[in-house]
Formats: sequence, structure tokens, C-alpha cells
Amino acid sequence: MLDKTYPQSDLARRSLKSVWHPCTQMQHHDTVPLVPVSYGRGAWLYDADGKRYLDAISSWWVNLFGHANPRINAALKEQLDKLEHAMLAGFTHEPVVRLSECLAARTGNVLGHCFFASDGASAVEIALKMSFHAWRNAGHGAKQEFVCLQGSYHGETIGALAVTDVALFRDAYGPLLRPAHVVMSPDARAAQDGETAADVARRAAVALESLLRQRAKHIAAVIIEPLVQCATGMAMHDPVYLSEVRALCDRYQVHLIFDEIAVGCGRTGTFFACEQAAAIGTDGAPVWPDLVCLSKGISGGYLPLSLVMTTDAIYQAFYDADMTRGFLHSHSYTGNPLACRAALATLEIFEQDDVLNANQVRAQRITAGLDELANHAQVRNFRQRGMIWAFDAAIDDPAARARFSQRFFIKALESELLLRPIGRTVYLMPPYILDEAECELLAARTTAVFESVVAHA
Ligand SMILES: *Cc1c(COP(=O)(O)O)cnc(C)c1O
Repeated sequence: MLDKTYPQSDLARRSLKSVWHPCTQMQHHDTVPLVPVSYGRGAWLYDADGKRYLDAISSWWVNLFGHANPRINAALKEQLDKLEHAMLAGFTHEPVVRLSECLAARTGNVLGHCFFASDGASAVEIALKMSFHAWRNAGHGAKQEFVCLQGSYHGETIGALAVTDVALFRDAYGPLLRPAHVVMSPDARAAQDGETAADVARRAAVALESLLRQRAKHIAAVIIEPLVQCATGMAMHDPVYLSEVRALCDRYQVHLIFDEIAVGCGRTGTFFACEQAAAIGTDGAPVWPDLVCLSKGISGGYLPLSLVMTTDAIYQAFYDADMTRGFLHSHSYTGNPLACRAALATLEIFEQDDVLNANQVRAQRITAGLDELANHAQVRNFRQRGMIWAFDAAIDDPAARARFSQRFFIKALESELLLRPIGRTVYLMPPYILDEAECELLAARTTAVFESVVAHA
């Protein structure tokens, strides 16, 4: 099937014996190399032989400011000598307080209460439980259902998987899951003759409204990945969708959850993706959800950390003398000081380096470099938002798509790029530190890899 069989390095062979790798059919490594990383510097990962790979997908979208970032390293070393961890029930510490304050300030204190966990899926579980329990405490115990979008991805624990609509991850576990309502995605690629992306977004909002009209009494929350549904293959939509959904959730008394685990932390051009949507009936005020989930980039890609931010209204629904009306959810490492300190150092870099503006220049450079690719005869739906680029290879046969993505991954490695297409969708999600030469290298080599792979497809 593939051009050649790859010899695995020593470390890779030991790993394949003892480490069960994530999101992997282990047998594929009979023909696909497992890369033994020995260290990272900036945007590059190096293997034991000194071969380097540009981390063009930020190591699963987490690394914002490069590997071994001197400022984050320094903050962590200082924190390590002060406090590595203490439990967060009955105790608190400076890093978790400062981080909560900084993030709340970025929402104008609309989302002023932060609840911490360690990974994205747990943040989604927390948001779903918090929504249900807040309604229950308010005397609306019948609100037990959730709504998600076609192609949604919210993580792979049992609760998060129930609001995930990616067949590859969900189907095997279907019998274990409590079904959610799955409504039309506002994916701009669904545009019919003459429709704009905003038209598709409005059509999707109408579909959501017809569900809410019938079922809102039983629905606790709608959960959405704002602007880009990443894991399904970088499906992008018009911000007006978020404005419409906010208005619908208000009208039908349903919570709105924004899962900004992938799109938050500047990835789409604003710190929170939802800042690009204007609330209806305001002078361009952002659309804020009732609950927002953050993870991935928040610690700069250093340590597992996630959190859910919410409003005074939801917080107050739990505030009571009665223990059982409290939100009793907990994880052992909640609010880990090292992870919070890495997050604070990450937020400081956003300020010190004026990152959101600098990324606009970076993004223009990469987009210009990809111009030839965007117009390639075998490229469909070239799209970009902030620091995300994606396009679909014109390959319709499902088996050919799988071959394409594997071959692309290998060819990219040969060109010193870490890129991992989702089926026929190739995407770039680089860290926010690429210099001019790295932007050009990334664009030129992605183009060359694509041309060589489609030539042999
Ligand atoms: C990655 C991701 C998750 C899950 O986060 P994990 O840390 O992998 O559990 C949830 N939602 C979105 C949108 C994601 O991209």
C-alpha cells in the first residue's frame, strides 16, 4: 500500500511494545514510522539523530509559543521551588487566583467564576453537569437533554462523547451513550446555489429553533465549538451563527456552552473566538455564553489544565446552606499550581508581545505563501481563520482518503513537517512564533508535499 516499509528506531520499537498510543490503530505502525522525539526548541521537534520537524499542528493544537519557551520555563522553575501542588478544596494559592482573575477580566467579568480540571473532556463534563444541576436547583429538573452540532467534537469520555458527532470516535460506544439532539452544522461548505456563509448560518439557526420550539422544556444546554469545528475537519462558519444562537437560547431559556478548548487562546484571531460575534441588539458587544470551556493552549502546551468559566447567575444557583445544592464535582489535580503558573506565563506573553496583532502579520504571510495551493486544481474549500488554514483534497473514495492522509503524513515528515491530515482535509495550526523564514518554509513545503502526494494518489 505504501511506498516502502519504514524501519523503526530502537525507542519506537520499545514504545510500540509497551505504550498503547492514542487515536491510533497500532497495526498501522507496521508501515508508518513512530517518531522518537528527543527534544524541542521553538517551533521544532528533534529526534535522536538530530532530524528536525516543524511542529505545524502545535502538537495537537496545544503549543502556542514554542517548545522550551524561555519565559514559560523560567516561570515554572520558580514555581517548582515554591509549591508544586496543594488540594483546592479548603485551600487556595496565588497562581489559581491570579489566573481566574486574568481570565475573568478578559470577559469583562461576565464569566467571573472559574472551575478547574485537567483535560478538555473533563471541562465538557463539568459544563454539562453544571448546566443540568443549575436548572435542577432552580426547579427545572426536567431539563436533562443536550443539543450539539453535526460533526461536533467535545472529547471522548462517556459524557463528552454523547455530544460528539464524529462517527469514527463515537460509533463503537453508541450503546453506552445517552443520545443528544444533533442539529444542522452551520459549516459554510454546505452553501447551496447563491448562498453566502451567513445564509448557511441563518439556515442552521432556523433548524435549531424548530427543535427548541418543541423541546426546550427538556433541554438544559446547547454546546457549540465557535467559528471552527476542528476535529471533524476544520469546518468553519460565519460568526452570525453565534449571535443567532445566543438570541435563541435566551428566548427559549436554554444554556449556551461554548467549547473553546481548540478555538480559544487566540487561535481564531481573538482571544476567545466568540469575541468575533456581535450580540443582537447591542452596539457590537461580544456574544458571551453561559459557560465556556478552555484547555489545550491555555498552559502554552506545557501541562494538562482545563477550566469552565461561568456567570453569576449559574454560580448563584448553587450558592446555599445546603451541601447537596453545591457543585460537588472534583478532580485530584484541580487547579494545579504548576499548570496555572504556565498559563499565567502564557497570558503574559499575549500581553508583552502583542500576540493577536503580530499573528495578523504572520497569517497574511502564510496565506500569501499558500496562494498557489489555494488555486490548485485538486484543492477544494481552501479556508482560513486566524491561525488555522485548511483545505480538502479532491478525493472522494473513502479508502483513497485514508491512503492520502497516511501518505501525506509520511511525505511531510520527509520534508521536515509535522502535519497530520484529518481524512482528506489538510490543515495547518502552527504555534504563534514562526518567523518570516519559517512561514515561507511551511507554506512552500506544504505545497510541495501536497503536489507530490496527489500526483501518486
Ligand atoms: C481536544 C478537544 C476536546 C477534548 O480535550 P482533551 O483534553 O483531549 O480531552 C474537547 N473539545 C474540543 C473542541 C477539542 O478540540
